[in-house]
Amino acid sequence: MNYDSKKPRERGKIKPPGYYCRVCKVRKLRDEFPGMADKGRVCKACATVSTGERLGMRHEEEIYHFLRQANFTEQTRERLDYLAQSKNKKTRELAELMLQVAKLAPYKKGRLKILSELAPDLLKKLQDLGLVATYGK
Ligand SMILES: [Zn+2]
Repeated sequence: MNYDSKKPRERGKIKPPGYYCRVCKVRKLRDEFPGMADKGRVCKACATVSTGERLGMRHEEEIYHFLRQANFTEQTRERLDYLAQSKNKKTRELAELMLQVAKLAPYKKGRLKILSELAPDLLKKLQDLGLVATYGK
């Protein structure tokens, strides 16, 4: 008895249809890509988002990441100083908030406690933005 000899299907030969968007990293159908671009394909949804907005989103991610790190380094602070001058209002605001956090509670450990005592307003803002967990509740 040989089960393998009659297997009808060929596996792994079919390439998924469509293209891979270099911005959202999602594979979509060919219809979702209006133009051809040699540098890489960008889907309709991503193409409508302006470059400035995209940059803002990337900066936001970057700022959120700083908060997850164990402490604010000198390098991080310099980067935040730079981002605080962004043309993007939200990026600016977030960077300024982070600079305040860096000043008051540079270390992640005990940060919520320190902020709740020294700067409850700042903590509230961070909580409203979903950046930190609610403290003491
Ligand atoms: Zn896309």
